[in-house]
Amino acid sequence: MTDKHVSTHKSSNKKKINLSPRQQKIQEIKKKLLSQRKELLLGALEALNELPGQTVFPDLGDQATAEIDRNFMLRLKGREQKLLKKIDEAIERIEQGTFGICDRCGQEINIKRLEARPVTTMCIDCKTLQEEEEKLMET
Ligand SMILES: [Zn+2]
Repeated sequence: MTDKHVSTHKSSNKKKINLSPRQQKIQEIKKKLLSQRKELLLGALEALNELPGQTVFPDLGDQATAEIDRNFMLRLKGREQKLLKKIDEAIERIEQGTFGICDRCGQEINIKRLEARPVTTMCIDCKTLQEEEEKLMET
């Protein structure tokens, strides 16, 4: 696009974009998410290097132990993948400016809640409601 050449709007007076305290907090959350993402990836890589296939088992011929270990690794990997996906989505939402908006009711999610649990997509009220619904579904 040729947007760059059309600088007719007052971009001359260097107006710093003033981030609201909430936006500033969200930027901090983004940084945290990015480093958490990196740690997760590194951790997953390390776990991969320690796959049971490459470990030498004591000569017990214990197939069961190997199975349990493999299942555990797979589950761990699945959980990490899930979390990674959530982190990616949260980062994406921050970039798109939709972060911190409740998926369900469209209200802003409390910043304290976001700081404690950045990957959340629902406000506390909706989350509680959802959990109650899930409980009902189970029974
Ligand atoms: Zn809500």
